Amino acid sequence: MAISTRTQFETIIGIEVHAQLRTSSKMFCPCPTAPAEGQADEPNTRVCPVCMGMPGTLPVINRRAVELVMLTGLALNCRVEIDAVRFERKNYFYPDLPKGYQISQYALPLTSNGRLVVPVPAEGGEVTVGITRAHLEEDTARMQHAGRGYSVVDFNRAGVPLMEIVTEPDIRSPAQARAYGETLRELLRAIGASNADMEAGSMRIEGNVSLRPVGSTTFGTKVEVKNLNSFRSLERALEYEVARHAEALERGEPLVQETRGWDEENGRTIVQRSKEEANDYRYFPEPDLPPLRPSEAWVAELRAQVPELPAQRRLRYVNELGLSEYDAGVLTADAALAAYFDAVVEAGIAPKPAANWVTGEFSRLLNQRAADGLRADAVALGPGGLARLIGEIDAGRVSGTNAKTVLATAFETGEDPVAIVEREGLGQVSDGDAIGAEIEAVLAEFPSQVADYRSGKQQLFGFLVGQVMKRMAGRADARLVNQELRRRLDA
Ligand SMILES: [Zn+2]
Repeated sequence: MAISTRTQFETIIGIEVHAQLRTSSKMFCPCPTAPAEGQADEPNTRVCPVCMGMPGTLPVINRRAVELVMLTGLALNCRVEIDAVRFERKNYFYPDLPKGYQISQYALPLTSNGRLVVPVPAEGGEVTVGITRAHLEEDTARMQHAGRGYSVVDFNRAGVPLMEIVTEPDIRSPAQARAYGETLRELLRAIGASNADMEAGSMRIEGNVSLRPVGSTTFGTKVEVKNLNSFRSLERALEYEVARHAEALERGEPLVQETRGWDEENGRTIVQRSKEEANDYRYFPEPDLPPLRPSEAWVAELRAQVPELPAQRRLRYVNELGLSEYDAGVLTADAALAAYFDAVVEAGIAPKPAANWVTGEFSRLLNQRAADGLRADAVALGPGGLARLIGEIDAGRVSGTNAKTVLATAFETGEDPVAIVEREGLGQVSDGDAIGAEIEAVLAEFPSQVADYRSGKQQLFGFLVGQVMKRMAGRADARLVNQELRRRLDA
C-alpha cells in the first residue's frame, strides 16, 4: 500500500466587492443613475460634459453617496474617517474611462478596519471576516464588443457612484467566500445602500486565493479571479483554483501571480493578465475636490440609522426568544416578515405561537400571492389583528382549525378576526355547563355503547366524543369535551 505523503495546505482567500450605490444621481454630476420610470435605457442618453470627461468641467461630490458608504462602514463595524478623507486620481487609459483617470480613494479611505460575522451553513459554523476598507469611487462606462474588430461604448454607467469593499485574507474556504458574498448582499440590501444584484451588475465580486502549507505564516503566490456572475461561480472558480494550486505545489511547480477569468461554460479559469503587465496607477490627490471632513454629528446620525441586521436578528430570535434556528432563518430571510413577527410579539403574543402562525399559515397565504409581489408589510391584516386572533385561540374561544378559516378572510379584507368569528359563528363553546348538558344527552341516547365502554371497549370513547361534537355542530372545545366525557364515564 502506498503511503500518502501529500502536504496539507491551508487556503487563504480575500474578497473585493464593487457595489453600485442606490442614489438617484451620479457621483460627480446631476445625471440620473437610471432611466425614468417606464422609459427604455437608450445608450448615451444619461450623460453630460462632466461624466463624458470634457476638459474644463468640475466634479461636485454627491452627498448621498458619501452617506451610503459611511452607513455601510458603520454596519460593518468600520472606523469612519472624519479628519481627512481624500479623493485621488487613479490613472490608466481605457476607452470606457473618458477622463483617462478614475476618481477613487487610495491612501485615506472613508471607512476602514471593520468586520462582518458570516454564518457558513455548509460548514455548520461562522467566520469573522475582517474588512480592510469600504471606499467611494465612480463607475466606468460600459464597452460592448460589436465584433469584426470594433467596439461601442455607452457612457450611461460612467460616473455612477461605486463602493469598493475589501476584506482581509481571513477566508479559509470557497464555501466561506460564497457565504461572505451572500451575507454582504443581505446587509447592503437591508441598509438600502445598493440593490446588490449580481446579474444586473450592481454587485460585482472578485476573489484572490493562495495556498500555504499548514503551519506556515508567510503567504503563497496569489491569483486573482474575475468575471464571476454569481455566488455559485465564485465558489466554483475558487474551488478550481484551490485544486490547481495544490496540484502545482505538490509537483513542485512554481505558480505565477496573475489575474484569471472564470470560464463558466467549461468550468475552469483562464489567464487574463500576469503581474508584469499590471498597471502602475500613479495615484495622486484629486486637485478639483477638497478633502472630505464628515462631522461627528453626521456620523452619529448615520450610526443611529443602522437597522438591526439579519444576522443579529437571527441570533436574537434564537438566544433571546428561544426560536429554532429554522424558524429564525425563515423569518429573517425576509425583512418585512421579520418585522411583522416582531410586531405580533410586541402586541403580547409569546414568541413560539407567534412564529408558528407567521411562518405557517400567514406565510402560506403570502406565498399564494407571491406573483403579485405582496410583502408582509402590505397585507391588509396588520400584525395587531393576527395577535388578536392568536389571543382568541389561547383563550379557547376559537379552535385552531376555525382560526385558519378566519385568517384566510382577514388576510384579504383586513377585517378584525374577532368580528369574523362572531359573524360567521366560528367561535368555540368552552362553557362547561353547555358541554355537560350535551354529554348527558349523548350518554342517555347510547346506553349500550356506554355499557360496552365501561366493560373495557376503550375504542368507543372516540365514538362518544364524535356524538357530542356533532350535537354541538363542531364548535365545542374538544379538549374540554374529552375531559368532561371521561370524568362522567369513569365516575
Ligand atoms: Zn453627467
